[in-house]
Amino acid sequence: MLLFSDLTALLGGTLLQRPAAHATVQRLLLDSRRVETPADSLFFALRGPQHDGHRYLPELYQAGVRQFVVQDAVELAAYPDAGFVQVPDTLAALQQLAAQHRRRFSLPVFGITGSNGKTIVKEWLAQLLSPDELICKSPRSYNSQVGVPLSVWELTASHSLGIFEAGISEPGEMERLARVIQPTLGIFTNLGTAHDAGFASHAEKAAEKMRLFMGVDTLFYCADHELVHAAARRQLDAARTRLVAWTRQRPLFDAREADLLVTVQEAAADRTVVRVEQKRPRPQEYTFTLPFADEPSVENALHCLAVLLWRQVPAPEIQRRLDRLQPVAMRLEMKQALNDCYILDDTYNNDLAGLRLALDALARQTRRGRRTLILSDVLESGLSGAELYTRVAALLPTHGVERLIGIGPDISQHQTAFQGLNTAFYPDTEAFLADFRPEQYRQELLLVKGARRYGFERIVAAFQRQLHGTVLEVDLDALVHNLNFYRRRLQPGVKLMVMVKAFAYGSGSAEVANLLQFHRADYLAVAYADEGVALRQHGISLPLMVMNPAPDSFQKMRQYHLEPEIYSFELLQEYLRAAQEAAMPAIHLKLDTGMRRLGFAEEDLPELCRVLRENAAHLRVASALTHLAGADEAQHNDFSHRQLAAFGRMAPQLEAVLGYSILKHALNSAGIVRFPEAQYNMVRLGIGLYGVEATGQEQDALRPVSTLHTTISQIKILPAGETVGYSRRGEATSHERRIATLAIGYADGYDRRFGNGAGEVLIRGQRAPLVGNVCMDMCMVDVTQIQDAQAGDFATIFGQGLPLTELAARIGTIPYELLTNVSERVKRIFVAE
Ligand SMILES: *Cc1c(COP(=O)(O)O)cnc(C)c1O
Repeated sequence: MLLFSDLTALLGGTLLQRPAAHATVQRLLLDSRRVETPADSLFFALRGPQHDGHRYLPELYQAGVRQFVVQDAVELAAYPDAGFVQVPDTLAALQQLAAQHRRRFSLPVFGITGSNGKTIVKEWLAQLLSPDELICKSPRSYNSQVGVPLSVWELTASHSLGIFEAGISEPGEMERLARVIQPTLGIFTNLGTAHDAGFASHAEKAAEKMRLFMGVDTLFYCADHELVHAAARRQLDAARTRLVAWTRQRPLFDAREADLLVTVQEAAADRTVVRVEQKRPRPQEYTFTLPFADEPSVENALHCLAVLLWRQVPAPEIQRRLDRLQPVAMRLEMKQALNDCYILDDTYNNDLAGLRLALDALARQTRRGRRTLILSDVLESGLSGAELYTRVAALLPTHGVERLIGIGPDISQHQTAFQGLNTAFYPDTEAFLADFRPEQYRQELLLVKGARRYGFERIVAAFQRQLHGTVLEVDLDALVHNLNFYRRRLQPGVKLMVMVKAFAYGSGSAEVANLLQFHRADYLAVAYADEGVALRQHGISLPLMVMNPAPDSFQKMRQYHLEPEIYSFELLQEYLRAAQEAAMPAIHLKLDTGMRRLGFAEEDLPELCRVLRENAAHLRVASALTHLAGADEAQHNDFSHRQLAAFGRMAPQLEAVLGYSILKHALNSAGIVRFPEAQYNMVRLGIGLYGVEATGQEQDALRPVSTLHTTISQIKILPAGETVGYSRRGEATSHERRIATLAIGYADGYDRRFGNGAGEVLIRGQRAPLVGNVCMDMCMVDVTQIQDAQAGDFATIFGQGLPLTELAARIGTIPYELLTNVSERVKRIFVAE
């Protein structure tokens, strides 16, 4: 455990001020918006060209952070009980701390670098090795001077393998990353033109990247990249690094310049069959089917394959794992879009090499129709703007591109380079979206290729939103914000269980659970075993409680390590029967203190204690819980206190007969706000995470997570005296009206009770009342007052500007119901940052 008091020695800094309380460091914090557990966070005030972390000190202090590493002078009086260490360079200090952390563990660690494919190789390798290893890897593409230390900081003693990627843009940077990662194994993916700007030549770039691997035992790479091959030989052979190279050129293989020879045997539309020959340790030939057809994916998969063969994973097992390989979201994806268009989505990076690969992929598509390229500024090519865009322009006709939409200041500035093509230019993504007209795209193939900072995923979403009409947008940043709101209310050491039942209150369980796992929730809970199984299959490894475990699901619960909530003697007996056969996961005992739904009542306790005592050998109790019937309303305070008192009597009796301490928990979201004294050692967060503060006292502190929107399908002018829709319920009026038909109905989960004026939607920032009944797939609103409303416009059903609490009240229900009603046919889009 790291103590604040150790930092001065570790970082060689000056202690400006001691924190008032004895403080430990668990988390490294660089972003004031990401405060989660302030008490054990250490903030590094980084300074960059457009950013100065020192500016956020007041905000962080306000949020409860008390440990800081700074490089500027600080007005200490403003932070009386906080600790400050001053260092000459906060970034260097961050890296140094991570490097020291890394040194504490002696496990194999992969370092991955190269121009393209780092993230995908990292993700795939992790997928492929996950049956054998507990892996710590960089989240997403945390591969920078800042991202690498944060990734490495996540290493713990329980990991058996680390996989970290390193990306650089200037000479000198790799050495710093190598000191943090300290890889024992390396993968060099390839060398393209990305990040050329900082380097004198490609050879210099290869040599610089190779510095990541100066200390590794074994390096994997493709010998067909000549500069990589040369650099590996020159720099690493001398250091006696074992080089594991694969090639597609037989002469290289025959000359023993490469260990594996790969020949493509069959290139189908969705897979590639390869033969792999190897000489060492003994001559051997294999055939594998890679579930990909595009060249970048094949290359990435071959790197991984080389690693698996080197680890001597048996060939049939390798194939099984390859078959399960899941695409990484950031790879080039084909998506269906509006008006029978398709999008090749490559919104991840944009350098010349990457563009070339993407254009190759576009050219390979067999689908007919016009080809449009939506392209951001091309970054870091090392060329002058004029030359760069002349080169880009030359690529387009040869790859069949007929129309170019250029987005960004640079590409706009060099638009003359694209003369002769059908073009349009926009200074930024916002300008494009503001001008977006769906009818301008029909049966075409769009390549959307943009550097990440341009946020082109919004463009893809716009194309898709139009297609699906109705979309539930889930704001993951808001979710984390809400999580932290509740976290801050917990006493030290109190654990957090998060309820992800009912599809995470409609938000999409796998994605939400994944985020919660990343943000270190302690427990998750679902209603049914199947929900738990689905989460496990999505890689969720957190402890999971199942509230309604049917006895016939016990087998599954054992297999997936799901912990049942036991609420009756019958269920307990079933569980004990199952536990006789083979060990079962621990249980949670539900105590009924007044909800009168499920659980053991106080009078059942003697009997329960007897059964527990007699079967102590066959069961393990993880927790005891109760649920408050009216935590959200002050009028039920007395009742809630009686419930909590009963729980306070009952739970310790269980502990006494068990002879060990168990988790005890009683509070839901409302309870966390209203009964801070009854947190015991865990709480159960539900609706609050999703943005609804159930007591209504602190709604403003939460952010709405879900926004349900749809589009206007058509607008009609309704003469005076006519009605709208089924049963002629839309009342006739004495004046002409404009009626918009929206692409959402009760089959999407839009409640029928909103019909006939009870509900409102938001169009162009103004409210429009429902007219007539809500139909199965559509509904109608009056937009007479919203003059510029037109077909294709968004309509917000709930979310920002149209709070769930208000809507629920309008039809006499609760926000929970509106959230969980959104049907699964509604596409979920997850947005962050
Ligand atoms: C759903 C549920 C919760 C969470 O309740 P919220 O009001 O959504 O916070 C807590 N405990 C149990 C037993 C639940 O079923």
